[in-house]
Amino acid sequence: MAILVLGGAGYIGSHTVHALIEAGREVVVADNLVTGHRAAVHPKAKLYVGDLSDRAFLDDLLRNETIDGVIHFAAYSLVGESVGNPLKYYRNNLCGTEVLLEALVDHGVQNIVFSSTAATYGEPERIPILESDRTEPTNPYGETKLSMEKMFHWTDRAHGLRYVALRYFNACGALPDGSIGEAHDPETHLIPIVLQVALGRRERLDVFGGDYPTADGTCVRDYIHVCDLADAHIKALEYLERGGESDVFNLGNGVGFSNLEVVEAARAVTHHPIPSSIKDRRPGDPAILVASSEKAGRILGWKPQHTDLKEIIATAYRWHQSHPEGYGDR
Ligand code: UDP
Repeated sequence: MAILVLGGAGYIGSHTVHALIEAGREVVVADNLVTGHRAAVHPKAKLYVGDLSDRAFLDDLLRNETIDGVIHFAAYSLVGESVGNPLKYYRNNLCGTEVLLEALVDHGVQNIVFSSTAATYGEPERIPILESDRTEPTNPYGETKLSMEKMFHWTDRAHGLRYVALRYFNACGALPDGSIGEAHDPETHLIPIVLQVALGRRERLDVFGGDYPTADGTCVRDYIHVCDLADAHIKALEYLERGGESDVFNLGNGVGFSNLEVVEAARAVTHHPIPSSIKDRRPGDPAILVASSEKAGRILGWKPQHTDLKEIIATAYRWHQSHPEGYGDR
């Protein structure tokens, strides 16, 4: 009996595969390797290269393997790109998931954990954000994830495929041994970009917006370590295996750091001045996103272990220092 991890060659997927294997699970990875990396896949996991919108590929995999649970990470996830190219996001995130769900229902799979996002909330009505708060995405990425949640809800109602949707806040950090980490091309996320400056791969950091209604005028985000996210997926899977009802959970640290505070923490970790300047706002960015993860603590028994921003950045720095070209496959 294996766990199927869709998108297991990507950033959060590869860390979750690692954690599953450490926990003694058998793992099958499916990834089209468009944004994922073959080298990120744990050697003990079996890799199928293909696309989840390819029904024949899924049928073949589900016939060959005995799958008793699925974790679904396979999606595009860049806010800015989604604003410029919304249909790419609808096609991949929504249409791909529809094909996946048909295949899972037909093959009798009963449990699925999948990546949702803080972007489902849009401009939050209060901080910290609760799962029951208003969801009104301000970009197509968040919109497709919210639609995915709804598709899972109705599929469960009709076919009994139970799910957990995990709304991540800002994923960051890397496996502490530095062997796997974040490798996007192009990179758009704050912490990797800051560290690229520290490593001399970029000259400076542009901070998007200095006139937000926050203490220092820059956006505030809730940074959650990728290993804590991986742990949450395992706990969510175990919850479904115990017969838990379908549900939605926030995953964050519950503490917000401004973009300038992140840069300051990175300066302390790297001992590099990290030159930066304030630029225009980036479209689609809410001012403050901070999670309440009380529900995940209460129901899943999840508690983040990496709560110190400098320690989180230090794990990312170790990865970027030892892998300046990422996985070297692009
Ligand atoms: N950000 C920035 N400069 C960059 C990249 C990101 O100022 O080069 C800001 C971005 O506008 C947001 C925060 O950093 O306020 C976190 O952005 P990121 O893309 O890392 O994650 P998101 O919050 O979009 O998921």
